[in-house]
Parts: sequence; C-alpha cells; structure tokens
Amino acid sequence: MEKRDELYSGKAKSVYLTDDAQKLILFFRNDTSAFDGEKVEKLARKGKVNNKFNAFIMEKLEQAGIPTHFEKKLSDEESLVKKLDMFPIECVVRNIAAGSLCKRLGIKEGIDVSPPLFEFFLKNDELHDPMINDYHIQSFGWAGEDDVAQMKTLTLKVNEILKKLFLDAGLLLVDYKLEFGRFNDQVVLGDEFTPDGCRLWDVTTREKLDKDRFRQGLGGVVEAYEEVASRLGVEI
Ligand code: C5P
Repeated sequence: MEKRDELYSGKAKSVYLTDDAQKLILFFRNDTSAFDGEKVEKLARKGKVNNKFNAFIMEKLEQAGIPTHFEKKLSDEESLVKKLDMFPIECVVRNIAAGSLCKRLGIKEGIDVSPPLFEFFLKNDELHDPMINDYHIQSFGWAGEDDVAQMKTLTLKVNEILKKLFLDAGLLLVDYKLEFGRFNDQVVLGDEFTPDGCRLWDVTTREKLDKDRFRQGLGGVVEAYEEVASRLGVEI
C-alpha cells in the first residue's frame, strides 16, 4: 500500500490518499483540540494511543456486526480505512448527563439518561456544530431517509456493544459521537472511536478518563487514555 498526497487535515488526524482509490490512510497526530479548535495542544503519545485504541474498538464493532471503514493498523500512528462518502453529521448517544446536554437543558451532570438519548449535530465548527433533527437532514439533502434510519439503528447498536465492553473494564460509557458515510450504497461507520470522542468515567469513583480532562484542564490526559486502554487489554 503506497501512501500518496494528503487529502485532508483535521484537528487531530490527517487523511492521506493511497494508490488504491477506495482506501485512505488515517494518521493520528498528537494534536488535541477542544472548543471548535480554540484550544489546541500537542500531547506526547496521544496519536499512538488513539490509533491503537481505535483499531481495538473498530475490530470489536466489526465482530459484533457493525459495518466499519476500518481495514488494518499500518504502524503506531497509522491505519488503513475504506474511503467513504461522509455525511456532514455527528450522531451522539448519551447514557449519563454531561457536557452540552447539561448546558443546553440545565440537567445536572451525572444523572442517568434512560432510555439513552440520541441526538444529531451538523458538523460545522464555524456554527459550533448546531443540533439538528431528521427533518433538517432530509430537507437540506445531508442524507436520505434510509441513511438517517441506519445511522440511528447502528449508533444505538454500538451503545449496547460498547456499554458492556467498557463496564466489564470498570468504566461507564457516559456518551459518544459517531460519524458515518456511504460505501457502495451501504451506511458504514467512519472516523474514529477514541477517548477524544466519548466520555468514560470510572464506575466506582466516577473519575473522568476522557477528553474532558483536556477541556477542563484536569491534566493527565494521555495517562487517562492509557489507563482506559490498559483496562480493556489494548496493547499500546
Ligand atoms: O459536547 P457534547 O456533550 O455534545 O458531546 C457529546 C459527546 O460527543 C462527547 O463524548 C464528546 O466528546 C463527543 N463529541 C465529539 N466531537 C464533537 C462534539 C462532541 O467527539 N464535535
């Protein structure tokens, strides 16, 4: 597999073309960003930890029947993925109240959300990723009716798989964000699943072990990601 030009550089990952038009290489950088790119720092080892963490989770999801773009890990910081036609949409599921839900609705952090909440957001930093619903998506052509249904079904199925996986490792899956795209007419999970895009709390102490450590200046960000990886048995 030959790496070609950079296609796109995101806030924490760079995406490269390859000699196969249907495959891309994701490069997980050490950059860490929050607040729509306003706070950015380089954190040693983060790229490597996230690449390995993501590979582990994507493989678990594939095994459980979720179609993902993940093909294989290529190096410490790189993975090969299928090239999807991405929807400009973020799918969020919440099991416990935290983050923007608390701010938006005045809900107390930490209360159980039952049944779990599903929310769509538009991927747009300038607009601060506004919340949208099925109607916005279809009226503005961001995805079709069947795509919307598939995104909801798959995101909630991921919740059942990962809630258990994390709980078995002594972790609460508080919430997470997924992104999907189309590959040969199928809705497929893209992007990444790492502690950058989910909230994970220790089941007993409720200590935060995810990107909130960076957002809230709590320190020990990569150490927390490594702790989560080690509890899951991810080899770093
Ligand atoms: O900020 P909010 O509470 O809406 O985030 C919900 C979940 O989605 C969190 O786990 C957060 O890390 C993730 N998220 C993300 N990228 C965004 C927005 C949210 O990974 N742009």
